[in-house]
Amino acid sequence: MTELYDIRDDRFRALLQMNVALTRLSSGHMWTEGPVWVPAHQCLYFSDIPNQRIHRWTPDGSVTVLRESSGFANGNTLDRQGRLLTCQHGTRSLTRTDHDGTIETLADSFEGKPLNSPNDVVVKRDGTVWFTDPTYGIMGNYEGNRATPEQDGRHVFRYDPETRALTVVARGFAQPNGLAFSPDERVLYIAESGRSHDASVPAVVRAFDVDDDNGLGAGRDLLTLEPGLPDGLRVDVHGNLWVSSADSVQCFDNTGTLLGRILVPEVVSNLTFGGPRKTQLFITATTSVYGIHLNTESAV
Ligand code: MG
Repeated sequence: MTELYDIRDDRFRALLQMNVALTRLSSGHMWTEGPVWVPAHQCLYFSDIPNQRIHRWTPDGSVTVLRESSGFANGNTLDRQGRLLTCQHGTRSLTRTDHDGTIETLADSFEGKPLNSPNDVVVKRDGTVWFTDPTYGIMGNYEGNRATPEQDGRHVFRYDPETRALTVVARGFAQPNGLAFSPDERVLYIAESGRSHDASVPAVVRAFDVDDDNGLGAGRDLLTLEPGLPDGLRVDVHGNLWVSSADSVQCFDNTGTLLGRILVPEVVSNLTFGGPRKTQLFITATTSVYGIHLNTESAV
Protein backbone atom coordinates (compact mmCIF):
# COMPACT_ATOMS: atom_id res chain seq x y z
CA MET A 1 0.00 0.00 0.00
CA THR A 2 3.02 2.22 -0.01
CA GLU A 3 2.07 3.73 -3.34
CA LEU A 4 -1.27 4.91 -2.00
CA TYR A 5 -0.53 6.03 1.55
CA ASP A 6 2.42 7.88 3.06
CA ILE A 7 1.97 7.29 6.78
CA ARG A 8 3.85 9.74 9.01
CA ASP A 9 2.07 9.10 12.30
CA ASP A 10 0.40 5.91 13.56
CA ARG A 11 -2.79 7.85 14.20
CA PHE A 12 -3.22 8.11 10.43
CA ARG A 13 -3.83 4.33 10.11
CA ALA A 14 -6.99 4.57 12.19
CA LEU A 15 -8.45 7.05 9.69
CA LEU A 16 -7.83 4.83 6.66
CA GLN A 17 -9.26 1.74 5.05
CA MET A 18 -6.29 -0.41 4.13
CA ASN A 19 -8.12 -2.61 1.61
CA VAL A 20 -9.46 0.06 -0.73
CA ALA A 21 -8.31 1.69 -3.93
CA LEU A 22 -8.18 5.25 -5.10
CA THR A 23 -10.67 5.19 -7.96
CA ARG A 24 -10.82 7.55 -10.92
CA LEU A 25 -14.50 8.48 -11.15
CA SER A 26 -14.38 10.92 -14.03
CA SER A 27 -11.74 12.23 -16.41
CA GLY A 28 -11.24 14.28 -19.56
CA HIS A 29 -11.76 17.64 -17.88
CA MET A 30 -9.45 20.67 -17.89
CA TRP A 31 -9.26 21.86 -14.27
CA THR A 32 -11.66 20.28 -11.81
CA GLU A 33 -12.62 22.08 -8.61
CA GLY A 34 -15.50 22.74 -6.24
CA PRO A 35 -16.61 19.22 -5.23
CA VAL A 36 -19.75 19.06 -3.10
CA TRP A 37 -21.80 16.04 -2.04
CA VAL A 38 -25.56 16.53 -2.46
CA PRO A 39 -27.36 14.28 0.05
CA ALA A 40 -30.85 14.90 -1.37
CA HIS A 41 -29.80 13.42 -4.70
CA GLN A 42 -26.97 11.13 -3.46
CA CYS A 43 -24.57 12.55 -6.01
CA LEU A 44 -21.47 14.69 -6.33
CA TYR A 45 -21.33 18.01 -8.12
CA PHE A 46 -18.00 19.40 -9.27
CA SER A 47 -16.81 22.27 -11.44
CA ASP A 48 -14.58 22.21 -14.51
CA ILE A 49 -13.52 25.84 -14.42
CA PRO A 50 -12.04 26.48 -17.92
CA ASN A 51 -14.81 24.45 -19.61
CA GLN A 52 -17.42 26.51 -17.76
CA ARG A 53 -19.35 23.47 -16.59
CA ILE A 54 -20.68 21.96 -13.41
CA HIS A 55 -20.92 18.17 -13.62
CA ARG A 56 -22.93 15.62 -11.68
CA TRP A 57 -21.48 12.22 -10.76
CA THR A 58 -23.71 9.47 -9.39
CA PRO A 59 -22.56 6.24 -7.70
CA ASP A 60 -23.67 4.17 -10.71
CA GLY A 61 -20.73 5.78 -12.49
CA SER A 62 -22.58 8.19 -14.73
CA VAL A 63 -21.24 11.73 -15.25
CA THR A 64 -23.58 14.29 -16.76
CA VAL A 65 -23.49 18.04 -17.28
CA LEU A 66 -25.50 19.79 -14.60
CA ARG A 67 -24.85 23.29 -15.90
CA GLU A 68 -23.32 24.76 -19.06
CA SER A 69 -22.09 28.36 -19.15
CA SER A 70 -21.34 28.18 -15.45
CA GLY A 71 -19.59 31.55 -15.39
CA PHE A 72 -16.27 29.80 -14.75
CA ALA A 73 -17.74 28.27 -11.59
CA ASN A 74 -15.19 27.28 -8.96
CA GLY A 75 -16.08 26.40 -5.34
CA ASN A 76 -19.46 24.92 -4.46
CA THR A 77 -21.25 24.14 -1.23
CA LEU A 78 -24.81 23.72 0.06
CA ASP A 79 -26.62 26.07 2.40
CA ARG A 80 -28.72 24.88 5.36
CA GLN A 81 -31.71 24.43 3.04
CA GLY A 82 -29.69 22.29 0.63
CA ARG A 83 -29.44 24.99 -2.05
CA LEU A 84 -26.30 25.12 -4.14
CA LEU A 85 -23.95 28.06 -3.51
CA THR A 86 -21.36 28.68 -6.21
CA CYS A 87 -18.32 30.93 -6.55
CA GLN A 88 -18.15 32.21 -10.13
CA HIS A 89 -15.03 33.75 -11.59
CA GLY A 90 -16.64 35.02 -14.79
CA THR A 91 -19.34 37.01 -13.06
CA ARG A 92 -17.10 37.77 -10.07
CA SER A 93 -19.93 36.67 -7.85
CA LEU A 94 -21.36 34.28 -5.31
CA THR A 95 -24.65 32.74 -6.47
CA ARG A 96 -27.39 30.58 -4.98
CA THR A 97 -29.39 28.11 -7.04
CA ASP A 98 -32.89 27.68 -5.62
CA HIS A 99 -34.65 24.32 -5.65
CA ASP A 100 -36.64 25.43 -8.73
CA GLY A 101 -33.40 26.15 -10.59
CA THR A 102 -33.50 29.93 -10.28
CA ILE A 103 -30.00 31.37 -9.91
CA GLU A 104 -29.72 34.41 -7.66
CA THR A 105 -26.66 36.59 -7.13
CA LEU A 106 -25.93 36.91 -3.42
CA ALA A 107 -22.80 39.06 -3.67
CA ASP A 108 -20.83 40.60 -6.53
CA SER A 109 -19.48 43.83 -5.04
CA PHE A 110 -18.19 45.30 -1.82
CA GLU A 111 -18.25 49.01 -1.01
CA GLY A 112 -19.46 49.70 -4.54
CA LYS A 113 -16.65 47.91 -6.35
CA PRO A 114 -16.65 44.48 -8.03
CA LEU A 115 -15.32 41.54 -6.08
CA ASN A 116 -12.10 39.99 -7.41
CA SER A 117 -13.21 36.42 -8.21
CA PRO A 118 -14.83 34.41 -5.40
CA ASN A 119 -13.04 31.08 -5.08
CA ASP A 120 -14.38 28.87 -2.32
CA VAL A 121 -17.30 28.97 0.08
CA VAL A 122 -18.50 27.35 3.29
CA VAL A 123 -21.70 27.70 5.34
CA LYS A 124 -21.80 27.88 9.13
CA ARG A 125 -24.60 26.13 11.05
CA ASP A 126 -26.20 29.55 11.71
CA GLY A 127 -26.66 29.94 7.95
CA THR A 128 -23.98 32.58 7.40
CA VAL A 129 -21.93 32.16 4.22
CA TRP A 130 -18.14 32.59 4.30
CA PHE A 131 -16.08 32.89 1.12
CA THR A 132 -12.65 33.86 -0.16
CA ASP A 133 -11.96 36.42 -2.89
CA PRO A 134 -8.51 36.01 -4.45
CA THR A 135 -7.68 37.31 -7.94
CA TYR A 136 -7.11 34.00 -9.78
CA GLY A 137 -10.24 34.39 -11.87
CA ILE A 138 -9.26 37.81 -13.27
CA MET A 139 -5.54 37.21 -13.85
CA GLY A 140 -6.10 35.87 -17.37
CA ASN A 141 -8.64 34.45 -19.77
CA TYR A 142 -8.28 30.76 -18.89
CA GLU A 143 -10.24 30.55 -15.64
CA GLY A 144 -12.26 33.72 -16.13
CA ASN A 145 -11.92 37.12 -17.75
CA ARG A 146 -8.84 39.26 -17.34
CA ALA A 147 -9.56 42.40 -15.34
CA THR A 148 -7.87 44.83 -12.98
CA PRO A 149 -8.73 44.23 -9.32
CA GLU A 150 -10.73 47.03 -7.75
CA GLN A 151 -10.81 45.76 -4.18
CA ASP A 152 -8.04 47.03 -1.91
CA GLY A 153 -6.94 43.47 -1.11
CA ARG A 154 -7.81 39.81 -1.36
CA HIS A 155 -10.24 39.43 1.51
CA VAL A 156 -12.30 36.78 3.20
CA PHE A 157 -15.99 37.70 3.49
CA ARG A 158 -19.01 36.74 5.56
CA TYR A 159 -22.42 37.05 3.91
CA ASP A 160 -25.56 37.13 6.05
CA PRO A 161 -28.53 35.80 4.05
CA GLU A 162 -30.96 37.38 6.54
CA THR A 163 -29.72 40.95 6.21
CA ARG A 164 -27.81 40.53 2.93
CA ALA A 165 -24.90 42.29 4.63
CA LEU A 166 -21.40 41.54 3.34
CA THR A 167 -18.56 41.94 5.83
CA VAL A 168 -14.79 41.52 5.59
CA VAL A 169 -13.69 39.01 8.23
CA ALA A 170 -10.01 38.61 7.31
CA ARG A 171 -7.50 40.76 5.45
CA GLY A 172 -3.83 40.42 4.72
CA PHE A 173 -3.82 37.29 2.58
CA ALA A 174 -1.79 37.20 -0.62
CA GLN A 175 -4.46 34.85 -2.04
CA PRO A 176 -7.01 33.31 0.35
CA ASN A 177 -8.41 30.06 -1.03
CA GLY A 178 -10.10 27.03 0.59
CA LEU A 179 -11.72 27.34 4.00
CA ALA A 180 -13.41 25.11 6.58
CA PHE A 181 -14.64 25.31 10.17
CA SER A 182 -13.53 23.11 13.03
CA PRO A 183 -16.26 20.68 14.20
CA ASP A 184 -17.35 23.09 16.98
CA GLU A 185 -17.12 26.08 14.58
CA ARG A 186 -14.90 27.92 17.06
CA VAL A 187 -12.02 27.98 14.57
CA LEU A 188 -12.00 28.85 10.86
CA TYR A 189 -9.15 27.44 8.78
CA ILE A 190 -8.17 29.38 5.65
CA ALA A 191 -5.65 28.32 3.01
CA GLU A 192 -3.05 30.84 1.82
CA SER A 193 -2.25 29.88 -1.78
CA GLY A 194 -0.33 33.01 -2.80
CA ARG A 195 2.78 30.93 -3.35
CA SER A 196 1.29 30.06 -6.76
CA HIS A 197 2.56 33.37 -8.12
CA ASP A 198 4.96 34.60 -5.44
CA ALA A 199 7.60 32.23 -4.05
CA SER A 200 8.07 34.45 -1.00
CA VAL A 201 4.58 33.63 0.31
CA PRO A 202 4.57 30.70 2.74
CA ALA A 203 2.31 27.76 1.82
CA VAL A 204 0.32 27.85 5.04
CA VAL A 205 -3.09 27.13 6.42
CA ARG A 206 -4.03 29.82 8.91
CA ALA A 207 -6.33 29.30 11.92
CA PHE A 208 -8.65 32.03 13.19
CA ASP A 209 -10.69 31.90 16.39
CA VAL A 210 -14.36 32.68 15.73
CA ASP A 211 -15.93 34.94 18.36
CA ASP A 212 -19.57 35.00 19.51
CA ASP A 213 -20.36 37.81 17.04
CA ASN A 214 -18.96 35.87 14.07
CA GLY A 215 -15.80 37.96 13.99
CA LEU A 216 -12.36 36.45 13.62
CA GLY A 217 -9.32 36.79 15.88
CA ALA A 218 -5.89 37.74 14.65
CA GLY A 219 -5.09 34.35 13.14
CA ARG A 220 -2.03 32.14 13.31
CA ASP A 221 -0.13 29.94 10.91
CA LEU A 222 -1.27 26.43 11.83
CA LEU A 223 0.67 24.36 9.31
CA THR A 224 3.02 24.67 6.37
CA LEU A 225 2.44 22.48 3.33
CA GLU A 226 5.21 20.73 1.45
CA PRO A 227 5.26 20.18 -1.46
CA GLY A 228 2.98 22.53 -3.31
CA LEU A 229 0.51 24.86 -1.72
CA PRO A 230 -2.89 24.54 -0.03
CA ASP A 231 -5.97 25.09 -2.20
CA GLY A 232 -9.01 23.24 -0.88
CA LEU A 233 -9.43 21.74 2.59
CA ARG A 234 -12.00 19.94 4.71
CA VAL A 235 -12.25 18.91 8.36
CA ASP A 236 -13.32 15.49 9.62
CA VAL A 237 -15.42 14.66 12.68
CA HIS A 238 -12.29 14.30 14.83
CA GLY A 239 -11.07 17.78 13.88
CA ASN A 240 -8.34 16.60 11.51
CA LEU A 241 -7.64 18.78 8.46
CA TRP A 242 -7.53 17.21 4.98
CA VAL A 243 -5.66 19.58 2.69
CA SER A 244 -4.92 19.49 -1.03
CA SER A 245 -1.26 19.69 -1.99
CA ALA A 246 0.55 19.22 -5.26
CA ASP A 247 0.72 15.44 -5.40
CA SER A 248 -1.49 14.38 -2.54
CA VAL A 249 -4.13 15.02 0.04
CA GLN A 250 -2.37 15.67 3.33
CA CYS A 251 -3.94 15.01 6.73
CA PHE A 252 -3.01 17.04 9.82
CA ASP A 253 -4.31 16.98 13.37
CA ASN A 254 -5.73 20.19 14.79
CA THR A 255 -2.33 21.24 16.15
CA GLY A 256 -0.87 21.14 12.64
CA THR A 257 1.05 17.86 12.95
CA LEU A 258 1.22 15.95 9.68
CA LEU A 259 -0.35 12.50 10.08
CA GLY A 260 0.09 11.31 6.54
CA ARG A 261 -0.76 11.64 2.88
CA ILE A 262 -2.92 10.01 0.24
CA LEU A 263 -0.94 10.07 -2.99
CA VAL A 264 -2.87 11.15 -6.08
CA PRO A 265 -1.67 10.76 -9.71
CA GLU A 266 -2.56 14.35 -10.70
CA VAL A 267 -2.16 17.77 -9.07
CA VAL A 268 -4.92 18.09 -6.47
CA SER A 269 -7.09 21.21 -6.27
CA ASN A 270 -9.79 20.39 -3.76
CA LEU A 271 -11.67 17.65 -1.91
CA THR A 272 -14.85 16.96 0.00
CA PHE A 273 -16.44 14.26 2.11
CA GLY A 274 -19.56 12.52 0.82
CA GLY A 275 -21.33 9.30 0.16
CA PRO A 276 -24.28 7.94 2.14
CA ARG A 277 -22.23 7.85 5.35
CA LYS A 278 -20.01 10.87 4.59
CA THR A 279 -17.02 8.51 4.70
CA GLN A 280 -15.91 8.84 1.09
CA LEU A 281 -13.34 11.42 0.12
CA PHE A 282 -13.88 12.96 -3.31
CA ILE A 283 -10.79 14.60 -4.78
CA THR A 284 -10.71 17.00 -7.72
CA ALA A 285 -7.31 16.78 -9.42
CA THR A 286 -6.56 18.56 -12.71
CA THR A 287 -8.34 16.52 -15.43
CA SER A 288 -10.05 14.02 -13.12
CA VAL A 289 -12.09 13.34 -10.03
CA TYR A 290 -11.02 10.53 -7.68
CA GLY A 291 -12.76 8.80 -4.81
CA ILE A 292 -11.54 6.79 -1.83
CA HIS A 293 -13.26 5.30 1.20
CA LEU A 294 -11.93 6.36 4.62
CA ASN A 295 -12.45 5.26 8.21
CA THR A 296 -13.47 8.75 9.29
CA GLU A 297 -16.28 11.05 8.27
CA SER A 298 -17.12 14.64 7.60
CA ALA A 299 -17.45 17.11 10.45
CA VAL A 300 -20.50 18.57 8.73
MG1 MG B 1 -9.78 26.92 -4.60
